[in-house]
Amino acid sequence: MVNISPLSRAHHFYVQLTRRLAHPTIGSMKNRQTTRGWSIERKIAFHSKPANDGTGCILWTAKPGGGGYPHLSVNNKTKLVCRIVLEKKLGRPIADGMESCHSCHRKLCVFEDHLSEGTHQSNIEDRQKEKRHAHGERVSGAKLKAEQIPAIRSDSRSERAIAEAYGVSSNTIGEIKRGNSWKHVP
Ligand SMILES: [Zn+2]
Repeated sequence: MVNISPLSRAHHFYVQLTRRLAHPTIGSMKNRQTTRGWSIERKIAFHSKPANDGTGCILWTAKPGGGGYPHLSVNNKTKLVCRIVLEKKLGRPIADGMESCHSCHRKLCVFEDHLSEGTHQSNIEDRQKEKRHAHGERVSGAKLKAEQIPAIRSDSRSERAIAEAYGVSSNTIGEIKRGNSWKHVP
């Protein structure tokens, strides 16, 4: 049996899933109607895609709900996607007073391996840790400066052209355009 690391396992899983579903535009709002009647797993896979930054995160690509967290309507009730994913992983509902915590500190990540059950307090501490830790230009290897972000957001060129202009990957530009990175820059 091939031994797949957790990181590539996430990518492998999603590649297989998206191939099976054979949809051309993952997360496109245009195709939202078509998700009607789909299983929760299929909806989640449809609206998310693996981050191309070596973190193994699987990021929500549809518009997030309140607080910037991904949400889905389940039986006409709005549910947080990370809770749905975590409950599936645990095989039971999240305990009263407990929350789903992201080990990667990314609100948009819906990868089960990055989710665990924790108290509200530990979630707050995690978030504070995240703020203190590298974000944006403080991340090692980041070449962009906060001052450049507004210009990148309003740049009408293709992601590829912008990426070339700034000497970063088009994925980096895409993440900025989609609001997944540099969120702290207004
Ligand atoms: Zn993650």
